[in-house]
Amino acid sequence: MKPFDLDIVNAFRERLVQIESTIAIIPHINADGDAIGSVLGLAGILKNAGKKVVALSPNHFPNFYKWMKGSEEILIYTSSRKKVEQAMAETGMLICLDFNQSSRAGEMKDMVNQFSGPSMMIDHHPYPQKFTELMISHPEYSSTAELIFHVVKAMDYQKYIDKSVAEAIYCGIMTDTGSFDYNISDPQTFQTVSELLTYGIDPEAIHGKVFDNYSADRMRLLGYCLSECMEVYPEYHTAMMYLSKEIQQKYNFMSGDNEGFVNYPLSIKGIHFSALFTEKEDHVKVSFRSKGEFAVNEFASKYFNGGGHRNASGGEIYAPFDQVLERFRQLLSQYRTLLKKTKI
Ligand code: 5GP
Ligand code: MN
Repeated sequence: MKPFDLDIVNAFRERLVQIESTIAIIPHINADGDAIGSVLGLAGILKNAGKKVVALSPNHFPNFYKWMKGSEEILIYTSSRKKVEQAMAETGMLICLDFNQSSRAGEMKDMVNQFSGPSMMIDHHPYPQKFTELMISHPEYSSTAELIFHVVKAMDYQKYIDKSVAEAIYCGIMTDTGSFDYNISDPQTFQTVSELLTYGIDPEAIHGKVFDNYSADRMRLLGYCLSECMEVYPEYHTAMMYLSKEIQQKYNFMSGDNEGFVNYPLSIKGIHFSALFTEKEDHVKVSFRSKGEFAVNEFASKYFNGGGHRNASGGEIYAPFDQVLERFRQLLSQYRTLLKKTKI
């Protein structure tokens, strides 16, 4: 096991043992498989330990994560504000998973910042900002889900892991490694997976539920986007894609439909940096992926109010769509020397 601070783990365990009121667990806004898998995995473990738990998501999450046990009970802030506010008012302990700055709680940010009881953050992104009482932050882990698995073992709570919990944790590791494509150089990740398999989970079925569960519209949107909305800049080893509101409407866009789009350009020979721009109601959601040295989290943080990992990051920007695209093209030319010599 990669070492972590056992004092913090013990303090977390103490808080959990003491707490009698409800524990609220929160993923980041626009939750992905790691965020939802982590929330439902830890929620399952704490429920099995006899705790009262509620999962509160800042906004909707994609349908292809709704097979996980407990997913139907997650309260969504953007559609059930009163219920979430009430749940937060009754909460005795707060656990934030897969994010390391309170702004990633979206519109729940103020509630998270104002929470005065015991609180914990468990996360694997770099540059953590402390906004909880306790914090377990380990960027060397493949995923928050894998980190939770080891924290739970260190707390001697392994006895509360069951098959549904193992499925949720597996989903987190699978999605954050792009189905074991990246962030997998540490042997521990495969040891974790091998332990998860002993709970009788079916990895092929889980992969199918997440990745073979799209609508025909989504596939056509991907096809259109690759063919009509992708610009390739071989000289900068870069490709960009964009999804305007108009195109989203044409293909009946649903939350999660653009998941994975940003990875496609990276399979073009010589492309090491890929960007996806999705036009939202009043802002533009940006996703970056890279191979090798180019740190897209720094790029996202510098120009797009974002962050993430070295090779996978995102951000949001409140500016007109065309302006954002143009600004990115200009940045490419500004970064040309660096992008040209980027090694993979
Ligand atoms: P995605 O492109 O899949 O939305 O996000 C990729 C990675 O970047 C994830 O690790 C995610 O947590 C991070 N990320 C995405 N959007 C934002 C953002 O707006 N702010 C920050 N700090 N990180 C983001
Ligand atoms: Mn993650």
